[in-house]
Amino acid sequence: MTTTHDTLIVGAGFTGIGAAIKLLRAGVDDLVIVERSDRVGGTWRDNTYPGAACDIPSLLYSFSFVRNPSWSRAYSPAAEICEHIETMVDDFDVRRRIRFGVEVNGLAFDEAAGVWTADTTAGEQFRARTVVLASGPLPDHKWPDIRGLDSYEGHKIHSARWDHDYDFSGKRVAVIGTGASAVQIVPELVKQAGFVKVFQRTPGWVLPRLDMATPAGAQNLFAKIPAVQQLARQALFWGHEVSATALVWDTPLTGLVARLGKAHLHRQVKDPWLRRQLTPDFTPGCKRMLVSSDYYPALQQDNCKLIDWPIATMSPAGIRTSDGVEHHLDCIVFATGFDVHLTGPPYPVTGIGGRSLADEWSGGAQAYKSINVHGYPNLFLMTGPNSGPGHNSLLVYVEGQLDYAVRGITTLLGENLRYLDVHADVQRRFNQRIQRRLGKTTWMSGCSSWYLTADGFNASMYPGFATQYLRQMRDFRFGDYDAVALDTHTGVDTRIRA
Ligand code: NAP
Repeated sequence: MTTTHDTLIVGAGFTGIGAAIKLLRAGVDDLVIVERSDRVGGTWRDNTYPGAACDIPSLLYSFSFVRNPSWSRAYSPAAEICEHIETMVDDFDVRRRIRFGVEVNGLAFDEAAGVWTADTTAGEQFRARTVVLASGPLPDHKWPDIRGLDSYEGHKIHSARWDHDYDFSGKRVAVIGTGASAVQIVPELVKQAGFVKVFQRTPGWVLPRLDMATPAGAQNLFAKIPAVQQLARQALFWGHEVSATALVWDTPLTGLVARLGKAHLHRQVKDPWLRRQLTPDFTPGCKRMLVSSDYYPALQQDNCKLIDWPIATMSPAGIRTSDGVEHHLDCIVFATGFDVHLTGPPYPVTGIGGRSLADEWSGGAQAYKSINVHGYPNLFLMTGPNSGPGHNSLLVYVEGQLDYAVRGITTLLGENLRYLDVHADVQRRFNQRIQRRLGKTTWMSGCSSWYLTADGFNASMYPGFATQYLRQMRDFRFGDYDAVALDTHTGVDTRIRA
């Protein structure tokens, strides 16, 4: 017999663990978390490449409801973020609720019972009245679409699945990609490898990273007076919030960011030709801003070279660029990003009347307030459609989602509802507004990025300030939903009105 839980959480990364903590605090005790790996941590467990660290300060890239006065640096390394998540799991007694090694490969809603069934690759089924989908926006890495990829006979490593056994010393190494992962990897690789060639397709905007070890005095102060740490977090929050006026919309301040980026480039790169190669030609903010103080210096080391000729094909020996040069390589590092699920989870999600989320989202994902989708009741998406920030900490947005999901779930359980389904017209009007507002943002200014589908539909970013997003998520309107309760005496559905 399969037991029916009140809540199933899919994914034990930062978000899934945060959801468990918040739900437990709200009295939702009957919950289970399924995690496909054998450890918690999500993206921070998977991305262990040398130099992996968060490019948002840790005081802000953390939950406000989980105290950690001892972050070692302004921008903490991935391993420390993972440790923090492990500590959260133990401090809030979440570990015993996690089922490791369980990968969901299908979700279906049983309308009559008001229950979701999750199929898993191991064959085990989970049933739950509500589901929190917390598998993250970037769970799966992506090999690029490059001709002859499989013909290459040397060693291949993807940034998101680092091979710690590979010895780089004396090796000829290529790094393909110059995004957020690559700018962290390259400075570390040049210290280890014989020679590093960095294959760039599009130069990005790079701003200096003002990293430093947290002084012991500050750690002590944060531990003794938590309000001081909260104050520091608030200062960082508002600093980032202001930057939206330069990064989310193209304003005179965007020009200032461009000048800052160019000044950083000018200060760190003296060779005019290299500077030209590294100068971006798109509006700052359109792609994710890069934050690094050691990427440009690394490119100028004697054992490093930037290649900006397009890659024509891979060959058994390495990479052939369109200038006809064959680059012989021992190892290629693919810092080419992720298979972003802009069209939904990579498994079938079946809603009311057998509707398919993949079909409905084939042109790009759409949801109500990024969290609920009409026809898929009792399902709460974390980091869902149009919830991505371009200027602030993702976890600030996640906190808004967690509180909203807790409101929805406790309402559903408290009122003993069979289901809570957002009205189609409410969702449609919401998305019309979102897409109208997105049209005015830098993300739609013409560059190519993983924020957009192949057709240029923006299913990922929230077009506003974090403050606006949080206000939207604080406002749970029962009237936006079709709320259906099953009268256990008569067996007849009752529609509950706001
Ligand atoms: P990414 O931003 O998608 O960058 C991929 C890079 O690979 C780009 O430079 C891209 O060039 C290049 N590329 C892709 N396919 C290629 C091909 N066929 N030929 C040549 N070049 C190719 O991936 P990422 O750097 O892994 O970062 C992904 C996201 O992860 C980030 O936006 C961020 O949200 C997150 N991240 C966060 C942190 C952090 O510190 N918080 C660190 C790393 C990553 P084009 O630009 O021309 O497409």
